[in-house]
Amino acid sequence: MHVTGVDGMRRALVTGAGGFIGHHMVRYLVGRGYWVRGVDVKAPEYEPSPAQEFERRDLRHPEECLAACRGVDEVYHFAADMGGIGYITAVHAEVTRNNALIDANMLEAARLQGVGRFFYASSACIYPMYRQREPDVTPLREEDAYPADPEPGYGLEKLFAEELCRYYREDHGLETRVARFHNVYGPLGTYDGGREKAPAAICRKVALAADGDEIEVWGDGKQTRSFLYVEDCVEGIYRLTRSDHAEPLNLGSDVLISVDGLVDLVADIAGKRIRKRHDPTKPQGVRGRNSDNSRLREVLGWEPTTSLREGLEATYRWIEGELRKAGRIPAEVRA
Ligand code: NAD
Repeated sequence: MHVTGVDGMRRALVTGAGGFIGHHMVRYLVGRGYWVRGVDVKAPEYEPSPAQEFERRDLRHPEECLAACRGVDEVYHFAADMGGIGYITAVHAEVTRNNALIDANMLEAARLQGVGRFFYASSACIYPMYRQREPDVTPLREEDAYPADPEPGYGLEKLFAEELCRYYREDHGLETRVARFHNVYGPLGTYDGGREKAPAAICRKVALAADGDEIEVWGDGKQTRSFLYVEDCVEGIYRLTRSDHAEPLNLGSDVLISVDGLVDLVADIAGKRIRKRHDPTKPQGVRGRNSDNSRLREVLGWEPTTSLREGLEATYRWIEGELRKAGRIPAEVRA
């Protein structure tokens, strides 16, 4: 059931609205005629939030979650202590504690405030490590989550929060919806500073390199992943939240590529010859991971449509533009 505000507009809360996916979600919902409150500990880095209301709140605290959830029909919950593989491999206690507090307090606040629907952003990091030891992976199906052996820290907490969503639905009737994202990328994502993901890091390195230069690649480059363009991600979230499907659902692309392949694709987009220097001492995460999209297609009658080349082109141009604005692209690299 969806309640509408007094002015007839549907009202949504987006947590993590200062972050990458949250910011895109705000824009998507406003575009669909929603009234949106964005909440985060920080404002969006690269452009102002299009949310009608933006509040800074630390959602580890129950009273802040309660205030964030006031008067809304739907919650899209993205706030999390989060980073790329370098960050989530290095930091376990803080990430697990912060995210467990945020998720538990958000669910309870949504219940207390009578929220109609609650979307939760889970991750492919919940899938068992033992299924991801080979680069040539069998795509992961939703039921593969158990017996559990998730990524330590970050992935374990996501699995816990998925279950907590289920308990709130079963015990309290809160309509929770859960998607497991597989490597989301696109413009306005973090591309520097240690929390960036592989596509953004590679775009930055290639943009900063001159034709013929060598760049550092983490691991041996043969580790594989699939990558989901952020606009497909928010479309999928919206469709899932509207649907009756209450079980966790993969939201990813099922086109597999190696990290070396990703470097070659970005170099091609940039029009540069790039050599790779592999550093096997750097974290590379699981060896291979892909999304099985059978259920996604079945449940939503939809799947992501943006090709990796199209998505990376938009991402590369944006990162290159940001680096230019910051005066970080050396004169000899400028075309
Ligand atoms: P992000 O880091 O850009 O956004 C998360 C936001 O949460 C940040 O803006 C951060 O400031 C905010 N936040 C952190 N602690 C907070 C707190 N205590 N109170 C309020 N806000 C707080 O990350 P993202 O890539 O946009 O990811 C969004 C969600 O999707 C996260 O839950 C993440 O775990 C999940 N996810 C993302 C990916 C991906 O590839 N990007 C993959 C799987 C899952």
